[in-house]
Amino acid sequence: MQDKNTKKPKNAVKTPCYIIDEQQIIKNLQILRDVANRAGCKILLAQKAFSAFALYPLIGEYLDGTTASGLHEAQLSHDYMKNENSKKENPKKENHVFSVAYSDAEFAEILQICDYIIFNSFGQWERFKQQIKAHETATNSKKNYGIRINPEHSTQGGGIYDPCATGSRLGVTAKNFPFADFSGISNIENDEIGENDENGETPKITGLHFHTLCQQNSDALESTVKAFEEKFSQCFGKLKWVNFGGGHHITRPNYDTEKLISVIKNFRQKYNLAVYLEPGEAIALNAGVLVSTVLDIIENNGKIAILDTSATCHMPDVLEMPYRPEVTTAAPKGEKPHSYVFGGVTCLAGDIIGEYSFDQPLQIGDTVTFTDMAIYSMVKNNTFNGINLPSIALQRANGTLAVLREFGYQDFLGRLG
Ligand SMILES: *Cc1c(COP(=O)(O)O)cnc(C)c1O
Repeated sequence: MQDKNTKKPKNAVKTPCYIIDEQQIIKNLQILRDVANRAGCKILLAQKAFSAFALYPLIGEYLDGTTASGLHEAQLSHDYMKNENSKKENPKKENHVFSVAYSDAEFAEILQICDYIIFNSFGQWERFKQQIKAHETATNSKKNYGIRINPEHSTQGGGIYDPCATGSRLGVTAKNFPFADFSGISNIENDEIGENDENGETPKITGLHFHTLCQQNSDALESTVKAFEEKFSQCFGKLKWVNFGGGHHITRPNYDTEKLISVIKNFRQKYNLAVYLEPGEAIALNAGVLVSTVLDIIENNGKIAILDTSATCHMPDVLEMPYRPEVTTAAPKGEKPHSYVFGGVTCLAGDIIGEYSFDQPLQIGDTVTFTDMAIYSMVKNNTFNGINLPSIALQRANGTLAVLREFGYQDFLGRLG
């Protein structure tokens, strides 16, 4: 804010601009590393929430790798998630991928770069099995293959973020899981757990994956793991790893990390399986802002401030989830004397960000800063109405501000034909 009663931002930037907070990312990563160490699990970055690859070398210092939703994110990880400066024994980061369905063309490339490939159905697994076998024979290498299952245990209010909702297309339910035919990797038959036979035998499923949580605490994981065990433990002996997905809000202040750690430790001890978590939000939670400028103030049933940003273009989750993002120096509507509806610059009547109140009247030219804008923002934004994309800047832990990227007409043009 630039009006009298508020501080000027430390570093004035051309708006709109996302500013990533490196210090907060480091704090989040420290928490995640500590959890991984104490629980004895591996933690991956779910890139779909946050793909600011300039920070990948930093993230690679703390996490075990990434997961991708498909080829492009997997390629991004392959190209940028390296920790070459690591003094540790294994600087290589794991590249996992889960896609609801792989296309033939995409799968051939995924086979080249991913270490763990997770399928949403046994149909997809069967479809690509021969291609996998040919690849493994040609390269004399082994990868891990997994199946996403649906534990049918909803821990949230349903809606578009609940993969356990009735009729969900995400994951194989116990009813549709071919337990009788499922050989997987037998811990008993193979000395080296999880390694496929040397004689070129058909590759096998080595793990199961679920992802059912969204912004949840560890009690939701605890009950989900219980449902997972009840429905699927009959095949755990044929596996070597499980992946508990994302949605663990580990880095938020009231998250119960001790419960998380005990759930994972108990599971590992009981079944002797490696455990993965793949949070997205938790890596960059509260680690970025979107800075915008007031362009106009109009009246209709109260004051409406038009900003040089947009809910639908630059913070689409505000409309999709939906939710009201926080603004620094503002209170909810009516709490302070001067209330405004914040609206975006697009033609969409519903391009409304929320209602806010301030101690002093807003002025045209004032800066408005939305918090917690590093996640599901840059990765989801778009140029509807030809609106320019916000620049991306990094507030470094050493105090300097670096503009990583600015956008313009060419970026709009480059996505059209
Ligand atoms: C979305 C997603 C994640 C990350 O979820 P967050 O809520 O950002 O932690 C992890 N795995 C899968 C399969 C996902 O779809």
